[in-house]
Amino acid sequence: LDNPASAVSDSGVKVIVRMRPLNNEEEEGDMIVQKVTGDSVSINGQTFTFDSVGNTDSTQLDVFQLIGVPLVENCLAGFNSSVFAYGQTGSGKTYTMWGPANALLEENLSSDQQGLTPRVLERLFSRINEEQIKHAEQQLKYQCRCSFLEIYNEQITDLLDPSQRNLQIREDVKSGVYVENLREEYVCTMKDVTQLLIKGLSNRRTGATSINAESSRSHSVFTCIVESRCKGKADGISRFKTSRINLVDLAGSERQKLTGAAGERLKEAGNINRSLSQLGNLINILAEVSQTGKQRHIPYRDSRLTFLLQDSLGGNAKLAMICAISPSQSCKSETFSTLRFAQRAK
Ligand code: ADP
Ligand code: MG
Repeated sequence: LDNPASAVSDSGVKVIVRMRPLNNEEEEGDMIVQKVTGDSVSINGQTFTFDSVGNTDSTQLDVFQLIGVPLVENCLAGFNSSVFAYGQTGSGKTYTMWGPANALLEENLSSDQQGLTPRVLERLFSRINEEQIKHAEQQLKYQCRCSFLEIYNEQITDLLDPSQRNLQIREDVKSGVYVENLREEYVCTMKDVTQLLIKGLSNRRTGATSINAESSRSHSVFTCIVESRCKGKADGISRFKTSRINLVDLAGSERQKLTGAAGERLKEAGNINRSLSQLGNLINILAEVSQTGKQRHIPYRDSRLTFLLQDSLGGNAKLAMICAISPSQSCKSETFSTLRFAQRAK
């Protein structure tokens, strides 16, 4: 099969920043003094540079073109990919990954509001169709199946079957790393995908103590496994290829307050802080390994999230981090913290 060079040539981690528009409660005067150019953002005279920086007018389509298009090509070429949305609660992670959650659940999402995940699947289906036609002689056939899970307090729940709680991660030579008893559903059309997203998103945890109505203390991981079968041109022998796309909406990165919290809340706060900083460390190490080629120990097992995604992080996997920030003055210290986190991933 063709290997689109553009999809696999650039190694390392792609990091983009997206600043959401002010919301109804925020006012024009609240805007942080900042300057956004195509690839940098300046706040209080400090400038951070990334692969791309989206201003308040950046669209869902812009994000899809930067991250989604190469991701689909990478997947068809047989490589794994992971995309993470990082940022404080309310900064636009879910909006970017899925689309506005309320509209999604009410099934009245306008097409320009569609987030990255539905766009990626739509693109995947149409590219699969093209490839199957192009390689019809070799009987190329693709199959896609999806899973959707939540990691809360280092425990895994199946969002497609929430009766499945505290699922365990297993590892074996044949299957690599996998979640035992996790439901996987075949998808062929966008209708299948929409149904699955609605089911999963409506099962997301809503913390009773959360200021945000939505779940902000858990990571959600949507995975699409793409399998292909193709007969060799010369020998007619079937060849199989599998690749994964992981789309991860991370827990809010705001500093979880340990003071005043007790019992479960305290444990939960500690787990969120820890798993995000472990993800940051890991991406930092992977970026360094890919730049210098030096061997280093990669601490996948430090958290459920990184252990689970192990096969989709190192090696030839393509990683992207979308860092969501708010333009509001009141979010300044969290915005700085997000930009520093993002900078470290480069
Ligand atoms: P998070 O998932 O990071 O907590 P959300 O994605 O839920 O944040 O976004 C918070 C609010 O801001 C939502 O009402 C969402 O619809 C809105 N929002 C976020 N990003 C954008 C954007 N780029 N354009 C318009 N509205 C946005
Ligand atoms: Mg969210």
